[in-house]
Amino acid sequence: MSIERVQSLSSELHVPLVVIGAGACGLTAALAAGDAGALPLVFERDPHPTGSTGMSYGAICAAGTQQQQAAGVEDSADALEADILAITDGRTDPALARLIARESGPAVEWLIESHKVALTLETSWTGMGHAQPRLHAPPDRSGQTLMNLLMAAVASADIDVVTGARASKLFADSDNRVLGVAVTRPDGAVETIGCDALILASSGFGGNRELVRQHMPAVGDARYYGHEGNQGDGILWGQALGGALADMGAYQALGSLADPQALVMPHTLLIGGGIQVNSNGERFQNELENISGQALTILEQPGGHCWMVYDQRLHDAALERYQEYRDADSINAPRSAATIAGLAEVCGLPAAALIHTLTRTAELAATDKPDRFGRLFLEKETLEPPYYAVRVTGALFHTQGGLVVDRRARVLDTGGKALPNLFAGGGAARSVSGPAEWGYLPGMGLCTAVTLGRIAGREAARLVGT
Ligand SMILES: Cc1cc2nc3c(=O)[nH]c(=O)nc-3n(C[C@H](O)[C@H](O)[C@H](O)COP(=O)(O)OP(=O)(O)OC[C@H]3O[C@@H](n4cnc5c(N)ncnc54)[C@H](O)[C@@H]3O)c2cc1C
Repeated sequence: MSIERVQSLSSELHVPLVVIGAGACGLTAALAAGDAGALPLVFERDPHPTGSTGMSYGAICAAGTQQQQAAGVEDSADALEADILAITDGRTDPALARLIARESGPAVEWLIESHKVALTLETSWTGMGHAQPRLHAPPDRSGQTLMNLLMAAVASADIDVVTGARASKLFADSDNRVLGVAVTRPDGAVETIGCDALILASSGFGGNRELVRQHMPAVGDARYYGHEGNQGDGILWGQALGGALADMGAYQALGSLADPQALVMPHTLLIGGGIQVNSNGERFQNELENISGQALTILEQPGGHCWMVYDQRLHDAALERYQEYRDADSINAPRSAATIAGLAEVCGLPAAALIHTLTRTAELAATDKPDRFGRLFLEKETLEPPYYAVRVTGALFHTQGGLVVDRRARVLDTGGKALPNLFAGGGAARSVSGPAEWGYLPGMGLCTAVTLGRIAGREAARLVGT
């Protein structure tokens, strides 16, 4: 990822605004810039835009929305801000936390109302740091559906997304003003495009093993289950232009990847009363705590995996809500049996231990007391036959550190001064997840993608004078 220093750039094509990356951040930024009267050009390295957004559940955290009000959920930007500060133990940028909390609701409502991005509130997804249900997702809880909706919105706005176009070099002057970008095509052809402002929406660096080892050694050799295009290109460019980096050790490493099917199992299976057991049939952690770092605890278990154990009620609810769970079910990833002993047999688990674990869990639910890991089980959520289980493992999903931005999504240098015409959002920008894996609030990856993306698009359009 190089930068060529030039004092001026002559190119066949010059556009006011270039966006690098067509994930949730880049497409949202393009929509906001288009709304403000600028027609941005989006460059995407893949032939079909997917990004980590397309691999996700499409669940965007947002507070104080009309969708929450309609569902009778009382929430506010202040409450979300408080939850961000609580889960990060105050170790995040409070101004950024306030900005994200305040702008998240309007960003989601704007996507729904102005751009027909159909998002509904996921009422069953709460806790894990959220005081209220706040995840807004496409009806089938599919990130690919979110991508399809965003691409349709961008097409309706007459914004061009150039695919198979990897941004490979930036041109900048000695004041760190970006003058243009070189784009490399799959056949090796290189095109140069001049621009007045640039938005970095190329996500984080989960796919860049060297950077992962450098900044987050605990998952340096763990499997990566995010988009391969997340190579940290934008972060490296921003840094080379003088941009400050923060929280580079922050990440999400979930333990919910069906093994070996590589489909993500919904956490509602656990939120609603399900448990995790290792190959000894024993629980080993509070399943509802620090879900962001569960890859670490699961990879420490024998064989590096565990089983999510749940029941028909949770299975049916997941089938109804989650496309990815339906996909898993269609290839028989979840196994089931009428009894605990039967479940142990189909999963190859020790029956006596599994019976003991589930019996103990039911007893705990009757006492209203937390277990030794601090989890409180509710009687109404006690697992009933028939039982289900799916084998899962842990992986690094996405990174949360990156370029420091201000309230206008402008990249700041190490002295706190905004670079002349560089903006960032989504995985390319520092998020509000604290310094490590434990501060991630579910839905925050896409929240910062659409919230900072919208701000970046609006502000970049203003800078280029539209
Ligand atoms: C399996 C999984 C599930 C997840 N579930 C959720 C969830 O439900 N809710 C949530 O909030 N977060 C979730 N996340 C995290 C979330 O997906 C990311 O935080 C979010 O998608 C980041 O958006 P983005 O637009 O910054 O990046 P991306 O969606 O990754 O888009 C970046 C794009 O930039 C392109 N690109 C990169 N470099 C270049 C270059 N040099 N030139 C041109 N193009 C380039 C990439 O190809 C990619 O298409 C999940 C992540 C994973 C992996």
